[in-house]
Amino acid sequence: MDTNDSLFERARQSIPGGVNSPVRAFGSVGGAPRFMKKAQGPYMWDEDGKRYIDYIGSWGPMILGHNNPEVIRAVHEAVDMGLTFGCATQREILIAEEIKKLIPSIEEVRLVSSGTEAGMSAIRLARGYTGRNKIIKFEGCYHGHSDSLLVKAGSGMLTFGNPSSAGVPAGVTEHTLVLEYNNPEQLKEVFEQYGDDIACVIVEAVAGNMNMVPGKPEFIHAMRELCTQYGALLIVDEVMTGFRVALQGAQSLYGVTPDITMFGKVIGGGMPVAAFGGRRDVMEKIAPCGPVYQAGTLSGNPVAVACGLKTLQLIQEPGFYERLSQQTKKLVEGLTAAAKEAGVAFCAQSVGGMFGLYFLDKCPEGFNDVMKSDTKRFNVFFHSMLDQGVYFAPSVFEAGFVSIAHTDEVIEETIKAAKVAFAKVAAM
Ligand SMILES: *Cc1c(COP(=O)(O)O)cnc(C)c1O
Repeated sequence: MDTNDSLFERARQSIPGGVNSPVRAFGSVGGAPRFMKKAQGPYMWDEDGKRYIDYIGSWGPMILGHNNPEVIRAVHEAVDMGLTFGCATQREILIAEEIKKLIPSIEEVRLVSSGTEAGMSAIRLARGYTGRNKIIKFEGCYHGHSDSLLVKAGSGMLTFGNPSSAGVPAGVTEHTLVLEYNNPEQLKEVFEQYGDDIACVIVEAVAGNMNMVPGKPEFIHAMRELCTQYGALLIVDEVMTGFRVALQGAQSLYGVTPDITMFGKVIGGGMPVAAFGGRRDVMEKIAPCGPVYQAGTLSGNPVAVACGLKTLQLIQEPGFYERLSQQTKKLVEGLTAAAKEAGVAFCAQSVGGMFGLYFLDKCPEGFNDVMKSDTKRFNVFFHSMLDQGVYFAPSVFEAGFVSIAHTDEVIEETIKAAKVAFAKVAAM
């Protein structure tokens, strides 16, 4: 019988690194990634038959837990009607209306198949709308892997166009300005200098791709004001936070109105659906209404949309987000107490159904703080938890996710395992 180890060996013969997305590899924690076979509620089972409590939730989408029966039924019904038509369908209107109802800043919305596409399209739209070139992003924020967004900054310095991936010409990223997260003063200075040529600011209001770092309200509000003052568009990337930190997304927590919002992950409920939407006058610059080209063979795929639509309906049940937030809070509080008891420097925090765990004395405020995380301690913690059947993201730089299927019993089992793991860390 194939085991995780032998499957990994075999996978590496035919797939680069054995994985189809690098975060799935155990590059930073070591060992063979687990090959999953099935999942139900808060659990996943690997090819060896071992059960795990899942705190990744497919990196965010599985907010209802795995294999929700109503979602699965909606998908089955859609499959029976045909996989794809390449034509307009009624359900696309229903999901657009649902998104508009939940997110007041959206007047029109276009569906795509991944967050990467949403980000790439939103940037093109902002440039097309404003007729400007420069875009501002922040250190540690991820907006998908399109060329002009694959830039990181050198330790808090303002950099122009240093691509952080091979294969991206400097010419493609020369208009990308990378600034410090949670630094409104720097943002203001850059607007004063380049304001006339800034097309947009793109941000994760609660950053979830450098572990989790909530934006400071004054930072988010400053960027809204500066964008308005200088005629730039504000793009809030809610691919991770949308329908995750709150029913109305991170923008509702900050009381900020973006010009364009990106969605992904939860919006597809486990199928490839993402979206970007916003002000009508901006969205109508897109083809076929306007001159900004954007398209997709499988955009608005009927099976994927059925899955996303049912998910968006189910998360609107009364008390859903109160319970999700409460369970996530129980988890971070339990872990924090267990670490303290073991004498391990540790901090944890949550926003809605999303959380960050840090092997740090205090919770981080930006990229530089996150970079100080104790990777060795994290790796010992991670592997001990994994051995005990608890699956956290295999990196100190990833956020974690709780689903509505994570019951008290599941959280308690996790904390019990964490006591063992923290004792191992303390003994290092
Ligand atoms: C996951 C993510 C993306 C990219 O989405 P994909 O569907 O993986 O292309 C973009 N932005 C944020 C904030 C994300 O978390």
